[in-house]
Amino acid sequence: MRFGRSIVKSFVKTKFHRLNALIVGSAILVSNAAIAKDSTGVNSFELADLLVAPGEMVQGEITIDPIDGDGGTFIPVTVLHGSQEGPVLSLIAGIHGSEYSPILAMQQLPALLDPTQMSGTLVVVHIANMPAFTGRTVYFGPTDLKNLNRSFPGDSSGTITQRIAYALTNHVIKPADYLIDIHSGDANESLRPSYSAYYAEAGGADVVQQSKRIAVAFGLETVVQFAGSYDSVDDAIYTSAQAVTLGIPSMDVESGELGIIDDVYIDPITDGAMNVMRELGMIAGEIESLENPLFIAERARIYSEHEGIWYADPLVRTGDYVTQGTRLGVITDYFGNELETVTAPESGVLLILFGTPPVNTGDPIVVIGKVGQH
Ligand SMILES: [Zn+2]
Repeated sequence: MRFGRSIVKSFVKTKFHRLNALIVGSAILVSNAAIAKDSTGVNSFELADLLVAPGEMVQGEITIDPIDGDGGTFIPVTVLHGSQEGPVLSLIAGIHGSEYSPILAMQQLPALLDPTQMSGTLVVVHIANMPAFTGRTVYFGPTDLKNLNRSFPGDSSGTITQRIAYALTNHVIKPADYLIDIHSGDANESLRPSYSAYYAEAGGADVVQQSKRIAVAFGLETVVQFAGSYDSVDDAIYTSAQAVTLGIPSMDVESGELGIIDDVYIDPITDGAMNVMRELGMIAGEIESLENPLFIAERARIYSEHEGIWYADPLVRTGDYVTQGTRLGVITDYFGNELETVTAPESGVLLILFGTPPVNTGDPIVVIGKVGQH
């Protein structure tokens, strides 16, 4: 499926061009290489206007044209196309532009891989939501105030966020055999432990099984199982929900918090991506993942009933096991008068807790994971 409105500028980074020329020597980009095969019999890979020969890495961008003077935007991508046949795995970082550990992990990952030694194709979206990244916004795009992770499958003539979703659906999700959508706690969210997640009921039995396979192979100790399914792609407004509703096995990752830059959050993402590539036979090596992760099948949320100032309780930390009734924090008005005491609605692992003062009515200030067995 092509994205008719986009114009894509592609380039091969000089450094890697030299490297590839050194390694594969005979790999040549030809004008109709979409049907060309090299000596291995593997077709070139197309992503928008990027064309990648077997054994090559190409970096470029998907361009979102301006509409009504909004300036448009672009999505930086790296494609590593293996010398041998294999699945297409797409990784998306930066759906939320102020979640930095996924973005920094995707900076590191291509350098750890050699496409001449790979089977299949890795598509890396470095920053899906460039307006939110450059605008440093939390949850929403800075101009249209839409949440990209509520905007799928997108709209080719919509706002900038809707057009980004449309481009991702058509260029990144639909061509994929597997998808990983990588997040962290947003700039206002404390989030621990890092976890992977998948839809345990959506997309049909095979999609569920394959989604679980990659979510477990990723190797984090905690795996969240999303409930529910979607009647149509128009209802599947989340990135990975769109994928599984299209029949593409998919998972989410959450690693990082509060805008913090730390390898303790970044390394599990690069390690996990490599683990999934090993699981899918894309690269050699043993999988470094757990036999028995902690599965979380249900999550309880608290939405703020007030706007004002949030004070997290200093005695609790995300990652703690809390019992029902544990005091998690208070909301005051702008003068310091208490409006609401927030306590744990259920016992379980405190996964997400707001970590900065601003709070609006309806904000999801607490997420608790109830431990399940699957
Ligand atoms: Zn996010």
